[in-house]
Amino acid sequence: MGNFEIFSQAQNMHASFFAIACLLLCSILAAKEDRLFSAISFLTIAIVFDFFGVWVEAKAVVAFDKGLAIETYTMFELALFLISMIFMSLAASRFISVSSDSSLLPVWILGGLGSFAVILFTVIMPAGDAVNSMRIMFPLAGFLYLAVGLFARFSSSNNSGYITAFIVSIIAIISISIKFFEIYSAWYLSLVLYIGFAFSFLLMKSNVINDKYQKAEQDIEKYNRRIEDIIKSSPFPIIISRLTDDKIILANNNAIKLFGINSQQINQYHLKDFFADSNNRRILLEKIEESKEVQDFEVLIKTASTETPFWLLTSANIIDYNYDVALYSAFQDITSRKNREELLQNQATRDPLTSLYNRRYFEEEVKKQIIKAKTTNLPYSILMLDADHFKKVNDTYGHKVGDKVLIELATRAEKALRDKDIVARYGGEEFIIFLPEINVIQAEKVADRLRQSISTIVVYSDDNQEVRFTVSVGVSSSDISDNVDTLVKTADEALYRAKQNGRNRVEVFTKNDLKHFEEQGMQLVKNEKKNQHPIFDKENSAEISLLDGADTQDTKIVS
Ligand code: GH3
Ligand code: MG
Ligand code: MG
Repeated sequence: MGNFEIFSQAQNMHASFFAIACLLLCSILAAKEDRLFSAISFLTIAIVFDFFGVWVEAKAVVAFDKGLAIETYTMFELALFLISMIFMSLAASRFISVSSDSSLLPVWILGGLGSFAVILFTVIMPAGDAVNSMRIMFPLAGFLYLAVGLFARFSSSNNSGYITAFIVSIIAIISISIKFFEIYSAWYLSLVLYIGFAFSFLLMKSNVINDKYQKAEQDIEKYNRRIEDIIKSSPFPIIISRLTDDKIILANNNAIKLFGINSQQINQYHLKDFFADSNNRRILLEKIEESKEVQDFEVLIKTASTETPFWLLTSANIIDYNYDVALYSAFQDITSRKNREELLQNQATRDPLTSLYNRRYFEEEVKKQIIKAKTTNLPYSILMLDADHFKKVNDTYGHKVGDKVLIELATRAEKALRDKDIVARYGGEEFIIFLPEINVIQAEKVADRLRQSISTIVVYSDDNQEVRFTVSVGVSSSDISDNVDTLVKTADEALYRAKQNGRNRVEVFTKNDLKHFEEQGMQLVKNEKKNQHPIFDKENSAEISLLDGADTQDTKIVS
């Protein structure tokens, strides 16, 4: 290159400066591409030194024409070419080192060629020819280094930049060789080479970007496949759904089975379709939004194939999957656990024979309702029911039929009353009912309708005999007290009166009764205790009579 006399023609000066500016610009553009950046930086420095070598040579020619001494110019010029060659070889080594399957062989070959260039200059063609040889050999060796270095990069997937740079290097080698044998020379070859390099650098830059993009794509693919493998082999049902539109994008076989998904049309399902309770889903999403993940959250799920919703435990977190932000949800079937919990809960609050609430639940719940009623100033009433001559039913038809009667009685009472009324089994054949928002007058009517309704129930004995029965009812209300115990006691007092007045009837505990009661004070209560008044029976009796235990088998059959 140094030997092409581009600077002898002034009009080409600007073109050359422009070309070098392009080269620098391209190098800056290629920056931050780690090792490629260092390779291109070395190359740029090499070409800048080469450029100054040519400039000093032109000065030497001018001085020579004027008949001045040119030794200093020549030494300086050759030193610049030598430095340029070193930088070119450094650039070449960077190209070799970024090559994935690099071997040391090209480095040895290039080392040999470099040594040959130096030997040629100092031993084979010393003295007069030495300067000229150096002018040829240093750029030649430099470009050769570069050509081999670039060649080593051919293995990369995007290598058009390297191929171009390699071709440009080969052209440079050929040009310099031609000049060496003094066959042909043209000033514009230098310019073409500079521009050629600039172009190849730009290509390299885009190649590197492409490489990175491809690698990122491959990484994503690899990551996706890993997720898919993990999901497939998981013993838990797992679903991945896109966060933007909630569409299911991946579900493993366990999830497909559990959710009844058609495996051919996974993408047509939305995760929200499987939520039986939108409120439950809203809370889940809020939790995920808050902390990007949720652990052991209970979700109520419905599917096309199952009629009743079932409970699942889910752990979910937000992941990147297939260029989407997605929700990764793993599930665990906890239906049996939930059922067990419900059973335990029922055992604590329900009577096993009639499935009505038990006394404990009744008292707790009514306490709460009374507090509520006080704030709204609404009335409430309590009914105490007792089956008439129930002992006779047992004695005549057996306990099994007695149980049947109790179950029918409970069912009728529940059906006849409103949802907000609380019906409970208070003990043996006694039932207690809380009627919110019902005053004493209304309560008496309700009680009488219920009494009549119960009297129409027919139960059949084992030998198909019709068994009919009646109840007596005692009524008390918020007029009397806001204390559960007092309400129960007074309702029971009224019930006692109903029994005494002939059974199958309703009696109300009135304010007058209360006055009378209060006048008698505790004395009366104590006296009554002696007479085995029903109030005291109940206070200390077990919730369920001992007969329950004796009749467990029957109970099971009936329920
Ligand atoms: P009264 O009209 O005065 O209420 O007469 P009664 O026979 O109903 O009164 P009592 O309280 O003396 O008898 C209640 C009977 O209810 C006693 C018990 O054998 C029976 N009983 C209590 N719990 C159960 C039960 O769970 N199943 C059956 N079959 N009988 C029960
Ligand atoms: Mg009784
Ligand atoms: Mg009875």
